[in-house]
Amino acid sequence: MDWFITRLKHAHPTLDYRDLSSHTSDFKQLLDLQIIKYSKEIEAVPCEWCDDEHEIAPSRNGKGEMVLSCFGNQRVLDPNELKIWTVNSGILAENIDSKNPVFDKKLLGQMIPSILGSNYAVKDSVSEEIIEIRSLGIIICGGQMTKGNKQASLNSTDQKLVYFLYYRALNNADECFTLARLAEATAVKGKQRTEDYISNRIVEVNKKIKNLVISGKSSVPNFIKREPGKRGYHLNPKYLLVGNSHKK
Ligand SMILES: [Zn+2]
Repeated sequence: MDWFITRLKHAHPTLDYRDLSSHTSDFKQLLDLQIIKYSKEIEAVPCEWCDDEHEIAPSRNGKGEMVLSCFGNQRVLDPNELKIWTVNSGILAENIDSKNPVFDKKLLGQMIPSILGSNYAVKDSVSEEIIEIRSLGIIICGGQMTKGNKQASLNSTDQKLVYFLYYRALNNADECFTLARLAEATAVKGKQRTEDYISNRIVEVNKKIKNLVISGKSSVPNFIKREPGKRGYHLNPKYLLVGNSHKK
């Protein structure tokens, strides 16, 4: 099930025929357990014969079979090739907490620390875990950041951004994420913000943290740092060396 755990790193994982055909028995087990559920049908699939990329909508042949055809090529289509499945996060959470989870819990914990001990089903709602950035003296909890008696707020996107990057940094401080990946991670009910919006929020969050830390003009390195070499962003490892978190 390692392949599936990898998928769970996505904020909104979807599965398709390629998963079904390469992990058939796992896939059937997940379906039986209702951990994954049928979501929708796509109307067309990429053409496998032509060099230029285009899609083909299936049609029915004389025998009533679904077929794909393009310029004299034709083959019967398995109806599963059109299906998309999603994760039933409530049932997944129950399974993880059960005595005999279908996953290797240790691996799951290593790959997605935030999934254990937190309720995956409500992962989209406000996280209440306290993040303490000791090197800056800042405490982040949900939409509030405090340093001494100074406060700043985070909007819902900022919050998801910070928590996402924080959990990933605990896992691997070097890993960086593109704006596209961050837009996906901060999506609410599948609705994503634009990359420009995410980029602006990163600037805002960094500004707010700087304002909390200093009142003058001295320079404070960015909290959310862009690493051009790695084509992405992560929490500045400088701040996390002595950082720590604990449950409320
Ligand atoms: Zn074609």
